Amino acid sequence: MNPISSDTDRVVFPLLADPAGYRANTIDLASDPESLRVWLDIFRAHCDSLEPYAAASQGDTEDARRRAAACVARWRIVLDEIEADPMRHGEPNVPRFCTLREGLLREHGFEDAYVTIKAEENAAALRLLPGVLAELDEIGDPDRLLRTHLEHVFAGNIFDLGCAVTTDLFESGDMNFHATVDRLPDRPWLVDDLDALTARFAGAVHRKAIVFVDNAGADVTLGMIPLIRYLLKRGTRVVAAANTAPALNDIIHDEFVDHLGAIAAFDAPIRDALADGRLSLVASGNGIPLIDLTGVSPGLAAASADADLLILEGMGRAIESNYEARFTCDTLKLAMLKEPDVARRLGGGLYDVVCRFEPVA
Ligand code: MG
Repeated sequence: MNPISSDTDRVVFPLLADPAGYRANTIDLASDPESLRVWLDIFRAHCDSLEPYAAASQGDTEDARRRAAACVARWRIVLDEIEADPMRHGEPNVPRFCTLREGLLREHGFEDAYVTIKAEENAAALRLLPGVLAELDEIGDPDRLLRTHLEHVFAGNIFDLGCAVTTDLFESGDMNFHATVDRLPDRPWLVDDLDALTARFAGAVHRKAIVFVDNAGADVTLGMIPLIRYLLKRGTRVVAAANTAPALNDIIHDEFVDHLGAIAAFDAPIRDALADGRLSLVASGNGIPLIDLTGVSPGLAAASADADLLILEGMGRAIESNYEARFTCDTLKLAMLKEPDVARRLGGGLYDVVCRFEPVA
């Protein structure tokens, strides 16, 4: 079952420069058996945390634990079947594997397998947000302000339960947002277009930004929401796009609406922007941690047509599915690299960061 297949009226994202040549996948597994094995192992390693989070999402009852175990056992069989016969479940690629996994979760009764941990992490990050915003608001130098916002995005993006290494970090309790910011790699980053971005931001303010967000918790709360607020304060309208359907610990649209509502209760820039329409939230139509931009919601497409800035955040959206995609507006791709194979493909290592800015000519 495809968790998003019922959304039959999805449309091509209007900012794609070459829709016909677009592929929502930068990792070729179909013709690379060694990489296929690597990625099947990545998905297998993730099973260890998937099962307890799924069970916890429904109260960790005996029934929930039994279904979570059955789901993960079935998923391991599917992965083995793909290893034996790569075309067995369709063209082998990362987006398809993500879709298969979410489909199995639904079949086993898990509508949103990370709903509990997402709520806990949103609440925990919310407690830190006033202090983070106050620190940002004290930064006077515009170049440093932009860089600090990006550093917060990178640090927040480590908080990801879709990757084995960061899940281990998270569960060991060795995750502290401020310490994570302090431990980020020095510049130049692995992909470092910050100077070009800084120069562009010193010029005319963008009219309207489309911002794709990734994970619940510290990622969206301490990284992306401050970045959105910064854009708003500069005078850019923002449309923030979150997944329609659940996918691991990605924040979904309905959660994002509630979460921003809670932030608006104490933060005037967010409250005012929501009230007067400078900030709007839209469900992307997506239901996996990557995004295929040939199938977004009509609402997102309509909101995007006149945007002049696109921000894709997170390894799945910015790198694995859209790193090579070109757009008709200024585009910023931001990610913390948490999967060794993804980092290797970019010539880097674990916890390197990507700031790729592609201005339109
Ligand atoms: Mg994610």
